[in-house]
Amino acid sequence: MWQFNHIYIEKEIKDHPRTAEILKKCRSNGIFYIDRYMELFGRKKQDIHFQIEHRSLILAKASGELIYRGSPMCQDYGRREFYYTSLMKNCLYDCEYCFLKGMYDCGYLVIFVNIEDVFEAAEQKLAGISGRQTMYLSVSFDTDLFSFEKLTGYCRLWEEFASNHPECEIEVRTKGAPAFENFSTASNFIMAFTLSPTEIIEKFEHHTAPLEMRVNAANSAIEKNATVRLCIDPMIYVKNWRKDYAELVGQLATCVDLSKVRDFGIGTFRISKEYLKRLREAEPDSEAAQFPFVTEGGYAGYPQAIKEEMINFLMKELKNAGVPERKIFIS
Ligand code: SF4
Repeated sequence: MWQFNHIYIEKEIKDHPRTAEILKKCRSNGIFYIDRYMELFGRKKQDIHFQIEHRSLILAKASGELIYRGSPMCQDYGRREFYYTSLMKNCLYDCEYCFLKGMYDCGYLVIFVNIEDVFEAAEQKLAGISGRQTMYLSVSFDTDLFSFEKLTGYCRLWEEFASNHPECEIEVRTKGAPAFENFSTASNFIMAFTLSPTEIIEKFEHHTAPLEMRVNAANSAIEKNATVRLCIDPMIYVKNWRKDYAELVGQLATCVDLSKVRDFGIGTFRISKEYLKRLREAEPDSEAAQFPFVTEGGYAGYPQAIKEEMINFLMKELKNAGVPERKIFIS
């Protein structure tokens, strides 16, 4: 059973079959009906930390634009047709550097129950793509979709969508350690594991899966012939970052058959200038959030020299571990 403080349901989807399915798996201190989720979610200056500790759930209907162009800050893995979609807002985990704390004023979880409308929007987008371009659609941007699989079943539905639409690559990214039982292995369904050194996980990535579990989950997905992507992104600058990231690559080289990993995404921490301001207000004591970043073109990140040093270092470590450069994508 999933325990929530309160559950808020938009009146329009109160009789939606998925609303009933989700409610069957939840316990709460009360259910309330609302007109639009933004009445609650959009309120300014909410106490995000309190709301993360006392989670409430909002069930809503996604409307308006459902498929968005990928941000230039995110890696497109060589795909010109790069999009993302959000069937949830907010996350089970609590990373200190998470851009969601800069993006939203509210810590409640939102699940949009009408995934079928998003499928339809994705199909329309696909139909508009000319020639033989593959569409790359990231479906786990504003959340960690896999961590809610037992509640929503959305990853499985996306996997079915991928099986039926070979011209569309679906990427689900996680800091968890999901078991891929009963998932088929559509090659265009990409399971992307975000990996960080244990030091970083323990210090900044609260409630996420330990590194060993993430690596085991990636291994098990590879053994089931799933398409696996490994992301060491964002790299976080800490005192012993060289040692920490060298050890991470060492662990990967020992435990995973890296030749079976489809590709690798690497990048240092970066965030839009506006989000950084709010993130810092939400995380006043976090070393990761309070670093004296430099701002360029509306984005904040490490100074160029640090960024280059970190990327070059990780690139070298991965290449030494036998990963060909063509498989490494830098953000
Ligand atoms: S796992 Fe990703 S989305 Fe979730 S809190 Fe961490 S950074 Fe944010």
